[in-house]
Formats: sequence, C-alpha cells, structure tokens
Amino acid sequence: MALIVQKFGGTSVGGVERIRAVAERVTASHRAGHQVVVVVSAMSGETDRLLQLARALADAPAERELDTLLSTGEQVTIALLSMALEGIGQPAVSFTGGQVAIMTDSAHNRARIEHIDDHKIRAALDAGKIVVVAGFQGVDPHGNITTLGRGGSDTTAVALAAALHADECDIFTDVDGIYTTDPRVESRARRLDRITFEEMLEMASLGAKVLQTRSVEFAMKYHVPVRVLSSFQDGPGTLVTNEENSVEAPRVSGIAFSRNEAKITVVGVPDHPGIAYAILGPISAANINVDVILQNISEAGKTDFTFTVDRNDFAKTQGILQSVAQQLGAEDVRGDTHIVKVSVVGVGMRSHAGIAATMFETLARENINIQMISTSEIKISVVIEEKYLELAVRALHAAFALDGGAAA
Ligand code: ADP
Ligand code: ASP
Ligand code: MG
Repeated sequence: MALIVQKFGGTSVGGVERIRAVAERVTASHRAGHQVVVVVSAMSGETDRLLQLARALADAPAERELDTLLSTGEQVTIALLSMALEGIGQPAVSFTGGQVAIMTDSAHNRARIEHIDDHKIRAALDAGKIVVVAGFQGVDPHGNITTLGRGGSDTTAVALAAALHADECDIFTDVDGIYTTDPRVESRARRLDRITFEEMLEMASLGAKVLQTRSVEFAMKYHVPVRVLSSFQDGPGTLVTNEENSVEAPRVSGIAFSRNEAKITVVGVPDHPGIAYAILGPISAANINVDVILQNISEAGKTDFTFTVDRNDFAKTQGILQSVAQQLGAEDVRGDTHIVKVSVVGVGMRSHAGIAATMFETLARENINIQMISTSEIKISVVIEEKYLELAVRALHAAFALDGGAAA
C-alpha cells in the first residue's frame, strides 16, 4: 500500500463533469489499495474572477482581505469533490488549509509554508477516507488566512507529500507533461520523459508556469519525486527527479519565457560610486524583486541605469523612483511594459561554449533586437520586445533542435 498525493489544477476541476471525473480517478487509485490525499485548485478562472471583484472595489486591496477572498475558490472545490466522492460511495473528507494546520508565515499573497500537522490527515486516511485538501492556502500564527502566490496549489501538494513522506506526488494538469517549451506557443514542443529538479527550477522561475517555482524547491529539498500528468488522457507524463540522464545530457533542455516583465531606465544619472545602491536600495526595501540589470558605459560623466521588475510591481517601482531620480539628479525615468524575457535552459550548457553565440545568432537572423542579457551556469536570458515572443521561442526551439530535428 502506497500513500499518494494527487493534485488537480483549475481546468481539471473546471465544471461538475470534470469534478466527477476527478472523483472517479482518485477512487480508482484508492480501490487499487493506496491511501490518497487529493489537493485541488479553484475552478479555472475563479481566482481571476475574485481578483477582478477586489480590484473593482479597491485600487490596492488590503493583502489580508485579498487572501480571505481568494482562498474561497479552493474551498468550493474541496467541498464539491468530497460530495462527488461520497456520491459514488467513496468515503471522503475535505479540509481547508487552516483545518489541517498548513502553517505559513504572515506574508499575505505570497506566504511560505513553515509546518504541516499531519495528524488529522493520517487519522482520516486510516479511517479509509480519501482526504481532499484545499490548495494554495494556509494560516499564519495569528490565525489569518494566507495564500501562497499564483499557482500555489502545486506547492501545497508537494509540501503535503513531503510532510506525509508520500511515495508519489502526481500533478494532474491540462498538458500531458513538461515540454521543451510551452506547447501553446510552439506546437512542435516535445514532451520530456524526465527533467532534473535543477532544470525544472530554472524553467519555472523563468516563467514556465506548469509548476510553481516554490513547489520545485520543496521537491528538491525533501526529495519528493514529482510527476506531471494529464487529467484528460493516460500517459507516462514527465518525472522530475534528481537523476540526470545516463546518456550525455542535451546542451539545452528547454525554452522558457515570461510575459510578466517590465523595464525601467533611469536616464542620465551622474556616474559615481553608489548609484546602483541609491536606485535599487529603496526598491528592495519595498520588497520588489529586481531581475535583469544593465548599466551603460558612462559618457560625459553620466550613465543610464536599466533594470526589470515583475509587471505587477511596475507602477509601484516607478512611484518610488520619482523621488530617487530627483535626489540623484537624473534626467528622466522611462518605463516599458511591452517587453518579455526569453531564456534557454539546460544543465548540459555548463560544458558547452557556443550556446550564447547560437542564441544571439538565431535572434539576429530573425531581426529581433536584444535589449538586455543575463546569464548563469545553466541559463541565458534575453529581454526583447513583446511582439517577438512567439517568433523568438520558435526560432530558438528549432536552433537547438528541441523538436528532435538537427540543430541549426
Ligand atoms: P493548472 O491549472 O493545472 O495548475 P497551469 O495553467 O498552472 O495548470 O499550468 C499548465 C500550463 O503551463 C499549460 O497549459 C501550458 O500552457 C503551460 N506551460 C508553460 N510552459 C510549459 C512547459 N514547458 N511544459 C508544459 N506546459 C507548460
Ligand atoms: N487558484 C490559484 C491560482 O489560480 C492557485 C492554483 O491554481 O494553483 O493561482
Ligand atoms: Mg498551476
């Protein structure tokens, strides 16, 4: 008998028929002799709908109240799935994050799970029930409801799998595995049989939303083998594991991209020591993450300082910079929200020179201007104009032969 955690995303529980199908599937696992913990997201579109309601009433809704609101989406699906299970004769019980004591810190809207009390879950499993837990939510030490950031149900599932020492953590979604790039952008993308934690972590943090970044961090830290599978068809999916392929790893394993980027340039700053700190210090103090950074060569004692932030933080960042720019004697602050970041990722890049050259050559051939570049051991990212996103992804996918063809 194994203990398995199965997570179903928004599309997979997007209507009553689909919820019924999930009930059938998890019951089959239970009847095969396993103990099953199910984690569900809100029905597809529901979290966005709730966000819109909030924004219609407040420009900057209080983060605590937002969490109280957003967590209701998942509360609906746990109850409906449990009813569906009981309806087909399968004993089940639903729990909100607070009810099973998924304890988080108090960082509303992006809380981190700190501790899970497995007591209630184990008792219910031992009583022969399927346990249905709300994804994406927890409770802080003061009893406030918290949420884990968009896509957070993945993290709930992996964290539960870790806490329960589960044998498997299956993430059921609307694609049948992890692909070389988002199959919605490049139809020639290829499903990977396996991917390393390290690569998946990089892909996720660079925008591949198939798994929330933090879920991959958890899986890596607690050695939880994660499999991504389709809710709608049978298949092997993709296993995220520690092991690298026994054959030589491909140089590049995938292309990730993020549309959620914005660029800000502080123009004509007097070039002397301390500029980067003067500009970025107040931004980090406001809890805003800065990503790619570029400082131009100084001309006539002045320089331009450019960096990217999450598009949701753009207005706030600009606000902070107005006064900073004035103090520094900068000429102007310019913003651009029509940019995206495209990245090639692969642990095999470590030992191969020339990946960057191929990437830049491919983009040049397509006449795509590179605005900024950032590299690490296993990825190269470029910032480009938004309208070239699809073109860039497809051209790079072909150039690195990710569809299985010959490299350019
Ligand atoms: P869920 O609601 O089940 O959590 P998400 O929408 O969060 O599903 O994640 C699945 C989506 O991730 C897919 O529909 C796909 O468009 C997108 N995606 C982005 N990059 C990849 C990738 N490399 N492989 C597979 N899917 C990807
Ligand atoms: N419902 C939340 C969201 O839409 C969490 C999740 O689906 O994982 O982001
Ligand atoms: Mg998701």
